[in-house]
Amino acid sequence: MTSPRIHLPSVDRLLQQLADTIDRHGRQPVTGCIRAELAAAREGLRHGLPLPDEGALLAAIRRRADETGRANLRPVFNLTGTVLHTNLGRALLAEDAIALMVEAARSPCALEYDLASGGRGDRDDLVSELLAELIAGGDPNIAATIVNNNAAAVLLTLNALAQGKEAVVSRGELVEIGGAFRVPDVMRRAQVKLVEIGTTNRTHDKDYAEAIGPKTALLMKVHTSNYAVVGFTKVVEEKAIADIAHAAGLPFVVDLGSGTLTDFAALGLPAEPTPQQALAAGADIVTFSGDKLLGGPQAGLIVGRKDLIAKIKKNPLKRALRVGKTTLAALEATLRLYRDPDRLTERLPTLRLLTRPLADIAAGAERIRPALQAALGEQFGISVEPCRSQIGSGALPVESLPSAALVVRPPGKKSGKLLLNIEAAFRGLPMPVIGYIRDDAYHLDLRCLEAKDEARFVAQLAQLKF
Ligand SMILES: *Cc1c(COP(=O)(O)O)cnc(C)c1O
Repeated sequence: MTSPRIHLPSVDRLLQQLADTIDRHGRQPVTGCIRAELAAAREGLRHGLPLPDEGALLAAIRRRADETGRANLRPVFNLTGTVLHTNLGRALLAEDAIALMVEAARSPCALEYDLASGGRGDRDDLVSELLAELIAGGDPNIAATIVNNNAAAVLLTLNALAQGKEAVVSRGELVEIGGAFRVPDVMRRAQVKLVEIGTTNRTHDKDYAEAIGPKTALLMKVHTSNYAVVGFTKVVEEKAIADIAHAAGLPFVVDLGSGTLTDFAALGLPAEPTPQQALAAGADIVTFSGDKLLGGPQAGLIVGRKDLIAKIKKNPLKRALRVGKTTLAALEATLRLYRDPDRLTERLPTLRLLTRPLADIAAGAERIRPALQAALGEQFGISVEPCRSQIGSGALPVESLPSAALVVRPPGKKSGKLLLNIEAAFRGLPMPVIGYIRDDAYHLDLRCLEAKDEARFVAQLAQLKF
């Protein structure tokens, strides 16, 4: 008996016919794909499957090479209706930020080099003055330091200012953000003893004052960014906590979470506390994220009193948590946009998307509807309907923004399985589309599909397979 494998073409013979694929992916990876497909064909033969013809084999090799050659971190269309989607990378960067980031990546840059003196510089100086200008009117006693994210900012601040001592926080503010960040856990890791005061729904001035003892290092307020306590509630305003802290000679730290630098109410958006307000109310240190409402790269910003910032920067954890040049480039360029408020919403994608007029979103949906109908077939109901977008990333949890969605309704009553197939088909497109299923229909919230991206979205619809 002859072995069936002798009927399969050789690796060399296949390589000769894959010049285009080798061009794209390289000889070695393509050889690996050939071996894998030949092994799969042999396995098929052993199980009684027919011998694949050479054309089919070549097509399978090309497909495998394209798939393994594709980056894992793939761009997607975020049509989930959540603008700052943590699982989809939060804020989109402004073009200026992208440009400076690319330049910093490509070329040596003055990251820790003082060009005036030719001596050693400090990477935080790239943004420290800019932050003092934007947040504290250029107050020379305000400085900043930048770390990997806001969780790191809180950890570092607590460890630097309160290690082995106590920090006072209201019970109503012991928040958990996305499971892994819980204020009590971060306190423990920072080697700070958490002193909880008040109750879940009510905390009073006297609770703070009475909690202060010889081991107290600071008072802290955590912005309850991802939930709201409503009803019989009482929180102590920042100014009052700051006064109590300062009377006892203690610093007051505010973890703001999102920390936009612009007045949301003036943009017609739900109001969101700013670091400017926190510092003006007497906070000595504020911490916030770079990639939430600020609209920049993933980073944690620690801004406040120069002497406290100096102490924070001396802590060895700072070296472990610091950010690289591309992050600082993106952050600097993002912050520079805030100097020009007139063009901010146009240039900063996060604000542009959050303030997009409903009519504009709905018009985009109407433009795309016929192409979607053609791609899915006449048996599907496809309509443009009102929906609500979320801001996301814990920012403004109870607020939502009116938006417009393309809504796909499958024929027939029992459509659950078909809906899941449709959702998977959109996810399977070359640039995956992420929508959501609600009320027995597949929704694509078009807030985050700007007119400039519509052509790219429509062009791939013909490849939907379900
Ligand atoms: C989001 C958030 C954090 C964590 O910030 P990351 O940048 O995601 O690490 C911490 N505190 C509050 C109040 C937040 O909203």
